[in-house]
Amino acid sequence: MSLDLPKLEKKILKFWKEKKIFEKLRKKNQGKKHWSFLDGPITANNPMGVHHAWGRTYKDLFQRYKAMQGFDQRYQNGFDCQGLWVEVEVEKEKGFKNKKDIEKFGIDKFVNVCKQRVLKYSKIQTEQSIRLGQWMDWDNSYYTMSDQNNYTIWNFLKICWKKGLLYKGRDSVPWCPRCGTAISQHEILTEEYKEVSHKSIFFKLPVKNQKNTYFLAWTTTPWTLPGNSALAVHPDLEYAKIKNKESIYILLKEKADLIENGQVMETFKGKKLKGLQYEGLFDSDEHKVILWKDVIEEEGTGIVHIAPGCGAEDFQLSKEFSLPVIDLSDNESNYKQGFGKLTGKFVGSEQVRDLIFKELEKKDRVFKIEDYTHRYPTCWRCKTELIFRVVDEWYISMDKLRKQLKEVAEKINWIPSFGLDRELDWLKNMQDWLISKKRYWGLALPIFECECGNFEVIGSKQELKKRAVSGWDKFEPHSPHRPWIDNVKIKCSKCGKQIFRIPDVGNPWLDAGIVPFSTMEKDWFPADLICESFPGQFKNWFYALIVMSTVLENTNPMKTVFGFASVKDEKGEEMHKSKGNTVWFDDVVEKIGADSMRWMYSRQNPVNDLKFGYKVAEEIKKKLLTLYNIFTFFNTYVDKKDFPKKELKSNNILDQWVVSRLNNVIERVTKNLDQYNVGIAVSAIEDFFIQDLSLWYVRRSRKRFKPASDGSSGEARQEAISTLYYVLLNLSKLIAPVTPFFAEEMYNTLKTSNMPESVHLCDWPKSGKTDDKLEEKMTEVRNIVTLALAQRAKAGIKVRQPLASLKIPNPKSQIPKELLELIKDEVNVKKITFGKELKLDTKITKELKQEGEYREMVHNVNRIRKEMGLTSEDVVVIDSTFDVINKEDFKKEVGAKEFNVKEEVSGKEIKINNQTHYILIKK
Ligand SMILES: [Zn+2]
Ligand SMILES: [Zn+2]
Repeated sequence: MSLDLPKLEKKILKFWKEKKIFEKLRKKNQGKKHWSFLDGPITANNPMGVHHAWGRTYKDLFQRYKAMQGFDQRYQNGFDCQGLWVEVEVEKEKGFKNKKDIEKFGIDKFVNVCKQRVLKYSKIQTEQSIRLGQWMDWDNSYYTMSDQNNYTIWNFLKICWKKGLLYKGRDSVPWCPRCGTAISQHEILTEEYKEVSHKSIFFKLPVKNQKNTYFLAWTTTPWTLPGNSALAVHPDLEYAKIKNKESIYILLKEKADLIENGQVMETFKGKKLKGLQYEGLFDSDEHKVILWKDVIEEEGTGIVHIAPGCGAEDFQLSKEFSLPVIDLSDNESNYKQGFGKLTGKFVGSEQVRDLIFKELEKKDRVFKIEDYTHRYPTCWRCKTELIFRVVDEWYISMDKLRKQLKEVAEKINWIPSFGLDRELDWLKNMQDWLISKKRYWGLALPIFECECGNFEVIGSKQELKKRAVSGWDKFEPHSPHRPWIDNVKIKCSKCGKQIFRIPDVGNPWLDAGIVPFSTMEKDWFPADLICESFPGQFKNWFYALIVMSTVLENTNPMKTVFGFASVKDEKGEEMHKSKGNTVWFDDVVEKIGADSMRWMYSRQNPVNDLKFGYKVAEEIKKKLLTLYNIFTFFNTYVDKKDFPKKELKSNNILDQWVVSRLNNVIERVTKNLDQYNVGIAVSAIEDFFIQDLSLWYVRRSRKRFKPASDGSSGEARQEAISTLYYVLLNLSKLIAPVTPFFAEEMYNTLKTSNMPESVHLCDWPKSGKTDDKLEEKMTEVRNIVTLALAQRAKAGIKVRQPLASLKIPNPKSQIPKELLELIKDEVNVKKITFGKELKLDTKITKELKQEGEYREMVHNVNRIRKEMGLTSEDVVVIDSTFDVINKEDFKKEVGAKEFNVKEEVSGKEIKINNQTHYILIKK
């Protein structure tokens, strides 16, 4: 049976729109008990990839489920708008190479293009989400670039300032030379490390007052050498003096091999080197050796070059040992004034590297230069290799908050539960939150700084208006963004000088972290659920939410965090636009349909990464197809006029069993969805309609659905119809949150005039009575059948060949007669006996053989009739080279008026008992 999901889905989308089903649903639940969902904003920067659909499926699934349970809900989608990710895309589009190009273009124009880009992609993503079947109040989405969102962050920052948490710090930070901004700690993820090859250099530093004696040091970043202000050695590792010709080198004993033909003169612990002085590389200042426990043996020489201006650990050491901090580079990552030929040149360039090598050659300081491959951090946005530099940035201090943050995190229900440990781990180890970025498109940090050392934070637009002494008119009609906001001056409350805002913009996680306060009214706070992909969010969104809510309310902003893993490609690799293995949402949805995608995502265990590929998707679609085929079967045999009018009641044991199973499934699904165990719930539904409904109930009940030859409908048939109708109707409700389109199609076919217009306007089904004893018995019966059929297969006897008897183990309690009949039928035996073990009598008597042949013939005639396109009304004439017993019965059974046995028939070849025969059917 073919199932064109994309076509069906478009039909349903039209139906929803025309009949305003979503609006009706909201109206139905309005004013009822709240269930508050808070959407994590999607970055509106590109069309959706297939991975976005995973989270959106969950979000929609939970909201639809809660709606069927009658909860009043917020349906607000969010778009993340501000930040470097958007800037970088606009820069690419415009062909900009660096920040100077942006300033030449005009910050106002640039910021407007960024806004336009966000609007463009938020529109595309909205259309895509609708196509996925997501129900949201799409005209009311929140945008993190909105005035409301930005000013709410201002208020937050002002409170931080009042609490003494906000400060300007000078620190060594990872810096992207291209983007010209610091990269905060939580933005450097492990996947942002790239394998790269650099020229590393072993270089010599003359020890003062020791003739021809050198420290042998090593670095992979030669550009940092002009920033050298100390050497570090490990106090407890074994070092050596090694002589070669007239030179003596000091390095780790382990690394003695580096010195060709060297002789070890003496060995000693590193601490003996403490305080020794050496001649610098580019200056004549005093430098000395310090002791540092983090020196490692694995790479280099054990003598570590320390440049506090160019490394985080180096900077820490400079505080500990009062080392001079030499700041080498400016905001464009070029050398500052005072570095001779290097000044103005980009620190990461090969030109700089070669200049430094040349200079050191001249001074006879080069020992060896060689290629070195290592993992090196890169910018998460533009993939440029990061450098470290010492800069002034703005921070929120974390130490004072740390304890509270952990308590708040512990109040949250984390699913899966390891989420709490991950979050606590981050909260334990994170440094202060670097919130400033030296960029353009983002939250304008409301910090006004004065030369006198004072800085103040403005908490609202009204406050700024009150404090403004000039520039308000240039700002007023605009959103609180650069460059317009930069015009406003206020008076320093300490010294009275007129001061500007600092030019920095905010970290974008401030934008997303504030949304519980900028988008939700009080009576929806805290959110019952947020639902996001786990990787990355512990340090990002979850973190920002927890920090901001702790500062503002000292409580958790959400009750439950539901997290899931990542979508990978078919081979399990990360999807990347640059790698070319990204699968786009639009392609997939038009190929396999939104419901296949949603089913695949929902049945997945959220802890595991999902490997997305069309082959997998096709497998999943086949599962849905099973349900579709049952549904089609029902529609083929049952007219609307046959739909049950009375309450379900059947004396048939299979009917009773399948209804009991259904009730058990309803209970299981409800329980698991209540606990957000989506994968378990969806698998339970799937197992039910494949294992129980398709492979057992429908297969065993087929005959009952066929109307009698006179078209009448007996009681057995009516019972079967009522039962399957009841099961399908309830199934349509059970799958409605998961596959809303297909569910609607099923429901629309089954609904009668007194039922709600849409499955999504129905109440969530309640589980009725179950009969656990019967279910147990049926399981036993199915096991017996499976084992007996295995014995048949082993003996090489087709199921169509009747056998005399099956012996089954004595049951613990009596098996009802109907079920014994069922076994007989399934295994195709004449009799069932009881004994110690299961045994199929495989002896085929002459009578049994003839009967088997008779069944083969019936099967073949029916098959050929079907191939010929005949209906059950068509009466035929049959010529055959094979004779059957009971000719009259046979003719009746296959709808033939004549059956002629001949020596030769020029017809279709058939096999009866492995012998070739011919058969001809004429109408
Ligand atoms: Zn960058
Ligand atoms: Zn001042």
